[in-house]
Amino acid sequence: FSASDGGGSVGVGGGGRRIPVGLKKPSKRVVVTGGAGFVGSHLVDKLLGRGDSVIVIDNFFTGRKDNVVHHFGNPRFELIRHDVVEPILLEVDEIYHLACPASPTNVMGTLNMLGLAKRIGARFLLTSTSEVYGDPLEHPQKETYWGHVNPIGVRSCYDEGKRTAETLTMDYHRGAEVEVRIARIFNTYGPRMCLDDGRVVSNFVAQALRKEPMTVYGDGKQTRSFQYVSDLVDGLVVLMEGEHIGPFNLGNPGEFTMLELAEVVKEVIDSSATIEFRPNTADDPHMRKPDISKAKELLNWEPKVTLRQGLPLMVTDFQKRLLSANN
Ligand code: NAD
Ligand code: UDP
Ligand code: UDP
Repeated sequence: FSASDGGGSVGVGGGGRRIPVGLKKPSKRVVVTGGAGFVGSHLVDKLLGRGDSVIVIDNFFTGRKDNVVHHFGNPRFELIRHDVVEPILLEVDEIYHLACPASPTNVMGTLNMLGLAKRIGARFLLTSTSEVYGDPLEHPQKETYWGHVNPIGVRSCYDEGKRTAETLTMDYHRGAEVEVRIARIFNTYGPRMCLDDGRVVSNFVAQALRKEPMTVYGDGKQTRSFQYVSDLVDGLVVLMEGEHIGPFNLGNPGEFTMLELAEVVKEVIDSSATIEFRPNTADDPHMRKPDISKAKELLNWEPKVTLRQGLPLMVTDFQKRLLSANN
């Protein structure tokens, strides 16, 4: 299905030894659920860029066609409008499962994608989250930490949905021998991030660009560790293709209070930007920072882009979208 399909020709090297010329790994057929979303669309760029065939499954709940429109017309790209809560039949080698509606649909979607992986023998990667650690009592968080989650709180449908998705993933691995991978993703930012989903980086950047005060919740001393999207996408691919199941923390250990983040946004966008304090939401984790020694050691992965390098890269994209009605 593509010019980059495996095989490659065999030529004769200088010493008369036959060596592969232009021998490429066979291109893979890959599903990316949630591929029209923020992280998914960057992952799709990377996979198509190296010659894979990619099927995106997305219901455009938070994703946008605009994020993948540059691939329309590419014969190796296919976009299916579909809700992962409904079963689907496909034939692929790998499934990156990013679609993430609020639980309990999250659980149903994960179950269907695991059922698909089991039927066709595909490798399945779950994008879990650092939220599985809840409001952590261990800092920084290692993958061995079981977490501190309020099961009946306002955030629990997301946290517990992902925890259940991890459980299902491991059960399909143990019970049905599905090859699985689990990534626990820490706060990620970059171009194509949703403008209006209320996350702190998108809020501060949009507010600073609109000359509105940046809304700091609580005392602003809570911490998060912010990862640039290209680092995450690299991590997802090495995880999918490596030998280790995980879970692996994928995040940037650079830790910032929300007040410090506001300062960096000020430096990058507008030195006259102001902040405004607002009440915090319930059960907000006080601090979060990944221990990434496991990913470093076993995946040979670590993030490269600092917050000060990454933030300017999303500003142009946000400026453009804030100016257009179709953002
Ligand atoms: P996003 O909202 O931009 O992307 C999710 C995509 O899934 C969207 O395109 C949405 O339309 C699609 N989708 C939602 N429900 C669907 C359904 N039922 N069927 C089909 N498609 C559906 O979010 P993102 O930031 O790109 O996150 C991608 C994944 O990474 C999610 O699983 C999320 O939980 C995880 N994650 C992200 C972060 C982060 O900081 N961005 C942190 C931790 C974990
Ligand atoms: N499933 C799917 N596509 C497939 C195979 C399964 O969407 O190609 C769904 C299936 O409809 C079910 C879920 O995945 O809801 C779990 O499938 P599995 O075969 O593990 O469970 P079972 O159907 O035996 O309960
Ligand atoms: N936050 C903030 N101002 C905002 C949005 C969020 O101060 O406009 C804080 C929020 O209270 C939390 C942190 O930023 O402590 C990260 O919030 P976000 O929703 O981005 O990510 P998560 O809580 O899921 O890590």
